[in-house]
Amino acid sequence: MDTILVVNADPSSIKFQIYSVEGDGRLRQQLKGRMDGIGNRPRLRANGAGGYPLADRAYPIEAVPDVAAAMDIANAWLRDELRIHPIAIGHRVVHGGPDHDSPVLIDHGVVARLERFIALAPLHQPHNLAPIRSILANFPTLPQVACFDTAFHRTHAAVADHYAIPRRLYVEGVRRYGFHGLSYEYIAKNLPRIAPKIATGRVIVAHLGSSASMCALSGGRSIESTMGFSALDGLPMGSRPGQIDPGVVLYLISEKGMSASKVQDLLYGECGLKGLSGVSSDMRELEASEDTNAKLAIDYFAYRIGLNAGMLAAALQGLDAFVFTAGIGENSASIRARVAEQLAWLGVKLDVAENARHSQLISSSTSLIPVYVVSSDEGLMIARHTLALLMNGSATSSVHPRVS
Ligand code: ADP
Repeated sequence: MDTILVVNADPSSIKFQIYSVEGDGRLRQQLKGRMDGIGNRPRLRANGAGGYPLADRAYPIEAVPDVAAAMDIANAWLRDELRIHPIAIGHRVVHGGPDHDSPVLIDHGVVARLERFIALAPLHQPHNLAPIRSILANFPTLPQVACFDTAFHRTHAAVADHYAIPRRLYVEGVRRYGFHGLSYEYIAKNLPRIAPKIATGRVIVAHLGSSASMCALSGGRSIESTMGFSALDGLPMGSRPGQIDPGVVLYLISEKGMSASKVQDLLYGECGLKGLSGVSSDMRELEASEDTNAKLAIDYFAYRIGLNAGMLAAALQGLDAFVFTAGIGENSASIRARVAEQLAWLGVKLDVAENARHSQLISSSTSLIPVYVVSSDEGLMIARHTLALLMNGSATSSVHPRVS
């Protein structure tokens, strides 16, 4: 059986999935695993297709000091114990820079190019590249594909790609890239099946997870995003503030004497729902809390989604549908209801029962704008791109690539 390994690495964990390539070219997830607690309390956990446990083992810190070591251990487990030898590996890479508008087959030249973007995404890019380098060294002939979170947004017009800053900064890469591109691409490619009439129209997709953003789709292409240069901008997130006046950052540096790394730690780890509530970064815990600041954090989250929806509707010059996805978007009926209240001026009305059931279409028959809940699957998107590049030498443009 041909299989594809999908890898998603961040500073403290590696998530991986194995997809089998079926006879008709479709991809089926066979295994899902993660190595958590890298450099802290490393632990490998994996489940098979039906959710049955395949592994749960702890490792000493010194055995898994970094992401590359975690990749080596996961790889050895897959190969030596499960006898899985993937025909290719697809990687989630956060930054493709200004030029990459689609996935690429990796070689040493590509790795060198992607290393240049470490400065643009210092928290994630090095960890995305570490497993790529280790596989390139250990399995030099095994095809690897880099799939970028930024690529789907490279269709933005100049006005959506710029900040009003000196041109030299734009030229060196200070641009509004946008992120969560693989999630939005998955939704855009599935909308024609879910709702053919609106798939060609103007759609706002709200990717609401611990990390959150919204994307304006016109005819299935991204024209605007709430995220920009980094994954800090736009909506409030679990522990990131979302849109903030840069004057606040200047105040932290000049008046509070904070270093760049202290400001970075604050902006990535102490703000958002966590900072505002003082309770938790986790929406489930906020919803269960009686604390008034937890309530304020939820109010702020819904309010900012409403404000940003207004901005994206202006970019689209109208709105034909609204889509919720990711952890909060797919699972929290009450947050969806709160967001719908913010969108009432657009004629959005939810069907209370369908919303509570997490149905795919949750708006009422009298709603002027249909509202959908669609599960995103970035792993499957990466596996599809990887297979398509392997078979055709170009990234997928169809929903189900076929092996010819
Ligand atoms: P990420 O991939 O960015 O880490 P996820 O898409 O997994 O994030 O979403 C995580 C968020 O989803 C958390 O805030 C979590 O509390 C929230 N979430 C998951 N299930 C529910 C639920 N049933 N109700 C409310 N929030 C939920």
